Amino acid sequence: MEFDLTDEERAFQEAVRRFGDKVLRPNERRIDSEGRIPKEVLDEMARLGLLAMPVPTEYGGMGASAVLTEIAAEEIGRGDLSMATAVFFLLEAGWGWALSRHGTEDAKREILPPVCQGSTFLGIATTEPTGGSDLARMRTTSRRDGEGFTVRGEKAFLSGVEEARTMGGGHLTLTKSTDSDGFNFLYVPTSAPGNTTQRFQNMGRMGISTGAITYADTKVPARYLLGEEGRGFGYAVEGFTVARTFVSAACVGAAERALEVGLEYIRQRPAFGQPLGKFEGIQFEAVDLYTQIEAVKWQCRRAAWLLDRYTLRGDDSHRSEVAKAVAAVKLTAPPVAFETVKRVMMWFGAAGYTKDVGLELGLRGVMSYMVGAEGGLNVMRMILGRELLGKEFLPYS
Ligand SMILES: Cc1cc2nc3c(=O)[nH]c(=O)nc-3n(C[C@H](O)[C@H](O)[C@H](O)COP(=O)(O)OP(=O)(O)OC[C@H]3O[C@@H](n4cnc5c(N)ncnc54)[C@H](O)[C@@H]3O)c2cc1C
Repeated sequence: MEFDLTDEERAFQEAVRRFGDKVLRPNERRIDSEGRIPKEVLDEMARLGLLAMPVPTEYGGMGASAVLTEIAAEEIGRGDLSMATAVFFLLEAGWGWALSRHGTEDAKREILPPVCQGSTFLGIATTEPTGGSDLARMRTTSRRDGEGFTVRGEKAFLSGVEEARTMGGGHLTLTKSTDSDGFNFLYVPTSAPGNTTQRFQNMGRMGISTGAITYADTKVPARYLLGEEGRGFGYAVEGFTVARTFVSAACVGAAERALEVGLEYIRQRPAFGQPLGKFEGIQFEAVDLYTQIEAVKWQCRRAAWLLDRYTLRGDDSHRSEVAKAVAAVKLTAPPVAFETVKRVMMWFGAAGYTKDVGLELGLRGVMSYMVGAEGGLNVMRMILGRELLGKEFLPYS
């Protein structure tokens, strides 16, 4: 077993950290206030190969391992504490990978290269206005129609609706098949005739939009179907397994950054005649946060390692082990990041409540993963419960 990074991985990590320090940090307030990631930031990400990293080189990606992608996600979460850039990054990585694994050759050649260049957007559409956790009860349908499919329904709380509309692109969309008992997973271009979009007003990660798409008999060509008809649910679950690992890594990066900021502050901020860091009430909190971040960081690295060993190779033989590792880290990482940012804000006292210190960006951003983005915490608990006790212990079985 090897815990150290290879020389190549370390060099890449350093390059992404430099990008975080030099490009993301100076832009994070602007990303938050302007409500978009500047084009020059996306261009630089593309230049470094950071967009849709696991996509094979023949489709424009770098064919990166999950471990390397996880390392990059951590650095991007550290660089832009608002999480907007991390969300953009991990959507392209996770769902770009899903498309490269299950998409038709024509779709991959058409959709993936511009995604990897940062000139179009690729997202995921599963959630509906009636709920996101109980996906099996979704209402959006796809009907076989001549050479393709007709999609009808509505998806909500989708990341990147505005980006896909303005830059071009679309979402991998999970739909109930009217021709079988199963689900179809289809790439639906956002600007397809029949679609209307709406942007929601979020409280955080303002640099990437969240919104809804209504599909009024939207025509989708057959080449945009992922894998086999009726088997889409499994492909979506697989994509979530990959994307959730990168979500967790981004949370680790945000937590590390917040703790660094906090340690620097408590080293010098005086109270009662000595630095705050000398008071064990504060020092021990810092130690506990460090310990939790380290634990979740290695939990995350192991999840990525399992993805490389099995999921990314299309090997389903360790499905339960992978599912548990990923659900456990997605259950742990957002609360650890949230708690770290919150505690450090409190060390700063009144200053922590200001935009000048900038930790509030992180609090608002990480909260998205507490309320539900990429699956709610209780859904992670349900996955773990199912794997530990068996399917018959699911409350609705
Ligand atoms: C900023 C942001 C971006 C998002 N981006 C996307 C996106 O790009 N694409 C997309 O498809 N979706 C996206 N989502 C939606 C996300 O996937 C959903 O929020 C999530 O799946 C939960 O669905 P819901 O919000 O409808 O909550 P519900 O399913 O209504 O659940 C509400 C609460 O109850 C809990 N709960 C649900 N069932 C149970 C149960 N059986 N036992 C105990 N607790 C339960 C949930 O964990 C949650 O806390 C995004 C959400 C946010 C906040």
